[in-house]
Amino acid sequence: MHITPRLTAAAEQRWLQIPEQFRERILSKVYCRKCPTPVLITEAEGKLDGHGDIILHGRCADCGGRVCRLIEAGEAGDIPT
Ligand SMILES: [Zn+2]
Repeated sequence: MHITPRLTAAAEQRWLQIPEQFRERILSKVYCRKCPTPVLITEAEGKLDGHGDIILHGRCADCGGRVCRLIEAGEAGDIPT
């Protein structure tokens, strides 16, 4: 499965600095309030906030609820498996 979030130019630049394996993991393990386990994010859109972090908004692939994921600058090095 390959998902590409819709990103602003600045967010995309940051996103592409994250190794691909981490990007896939980020997108496939998003916290959803309604689901018991981490879910895949769909319809993902992202932008940079003022700290250089990427904020992703999208929908839960399981229940369709709204989910969001903050990817902190430098997080790529220590994303839990
Ligand atoms: Zn859900």
